[in-house]
Amino acid sequence: AGRWAKAMAILQELEDKCGTSIGKLRQVADAMTVEMHAGLASEGGSKLKMIISYVDNLPTGDERGSFYALDLGGTNFRVLRVLLGGKDKRVVKQEFEEVSIPPDLMIGTSDALFDFIAEALKKFVDTEEEDFHLSHGRQRELGFTFSFPVKQTSIASGTLVKWTKGFSIEDAVGQDIVAELTKSLERVGLDMRVAALVNDTIGTLAGGRYDNPDVIAAVILGTGTNAAYVERAHAIPKWQGLLPKSGEMVINMEWGNFRSSHLPLTEYDQAMDVESLNPGEQIFEKIISGMYLGEILRRVLCRMADEAAFFGDTVPPKLKIPFILRTPHMSAMHHDTSSDLKVVGSKLKDILEISNTSLKTRKVIVELCEIISIRGARLAAAGILGILKKLGRDTVKEGEKQSSVIALDGGLYEHYSKFSNALESTLKDTSRLRIRSNGSSSRNGVINSLRSYGAMDQLCTGF
Ligand code: ADP
Repeated sequence: AGRWAKAMAILQELEDKCGTSIGKLRQVADAMTVEMHAGLASEGGSKLKMIISYVDNLPTGDERGSFYALDLGGTNFRVLRVLLGGKDKRVVKQEFEEVSIPPDLMIGTSDALFDFIAEALKKFVDTEEEDFHLSHGRQRELGFTFSFPVKQTSIASGTLVKWTKGFSIEDAVGQDIVAELTKSLERVGLDMRVAALVNDTIGTLAGGRYDNPDVIAAVILGTGTNAAYVERAHAIPKWQGLLPKSGEMVINMEWGNFRSSHLPLTEYDQAMDVESLNPGEQIFEKIISGMYLGEILRRVLCRMADEAAFFGDTVPPKLKIPFILRTPHMSAMHHDTSSDLKVVGSKLKDILEISNTSLKTRKVIVELCEIISIRGARLAAAGILGILKKLGRDTVKEGEKQSSVIALDGGLYEHYSKFSNALESTLKDTSRLRIRSNGSSSRNGVINSLRSYGAMDQLCTGF
């Protein structure tokens, strides 16, 4: 009985520390707005890098032609080609392939990683059918979606600031990523020009705008998390160049690196951060995104096993292995609707080699999933509210017709429905806006060499 009480105390403490009252979320949203201003004011002015993307025009839907794209940003990379047919025909044809990145290449050398990618791209290009062929003498162009912090120097060049999400390739930091890829393309003998370097958030923003002119921001919730939005060029004090004709500039926020004293952090988050590849960085990402949610759960379970003998007298050895419990496992347990929680039971057995768990124990685990994932979802909603506030779109004036659409993408958002539902309902509760989510489950294509794929969703606010 003492053990169970101890376990309940740990559960209760977690719940308290992860609290995200509406008041707290408003503080987080306001802090996000403040940091956005600071990051736009000067280079290094904020934890939010607010990177100028050099994208000052987004697609209209009139685009025509055949385009290639490469997406590198997590555990997989994707190669894609698309045939755009203009206003009426839209995406005529689209083909893509996904390749997982061997773990040793994620911590190896720049050459090894980019040669591997160039090789895969070459194989893909070799399968091109006639309808994609360009007119004679034209070089194929590639849009490169690269989802790590890059200091952009033009639309098609940028230096890598740092790695995140488990990547650590020292010799690539500070290098021009497009030059690195171009060298590899030459080495494998693929004749292709990198026409644009963008972040996946910007790809999602462009893809969203291709479908809906009211899209003003994009949020990625996948292995990591990030956001991009359309800013008025004159509201970017650190921008030294000419004002773009459109008067607009897309900003890559790198919001994963946001932190604030208002964020509800626990001892588990702190310990995970200290032991991570990038301690002190990407704090917002570490409490929201898919790479980390399962790991936070594992850490809570570890403490319960250790201090409350939650799984018997000893701590199950597998439970001590960092990152063994992945967010998709957590999601499967969280969504278990069976009366005896058999999915929870089987995940514990298959992944952690913990058998014969009682229903009571399983129920506690579902509660832990709820606490950890809902905190993440509500904080992501607060981040979105921060963007809307920055743009003065968090309220709509009497009689005004204004629609703001947020494009959302990423495996976490796409597959963890309790997470996405909580995000949407939190946005409803914190903003006085009407929110619709049109779960367009179509795969979206490449637009102007800027792309997004995956089942992108659009969250609309306004009237
Ligand atoms: P990436 O962010 O790696 O480029 P994705 O956007 O596809 O790619 O996101 C993949 C991430 O989504 C995984 O790392 C995982 O954390 C999360 N994810 C995938 N499937 C699920 C699932 N069923 N439930 C919860 N999270 C999931």
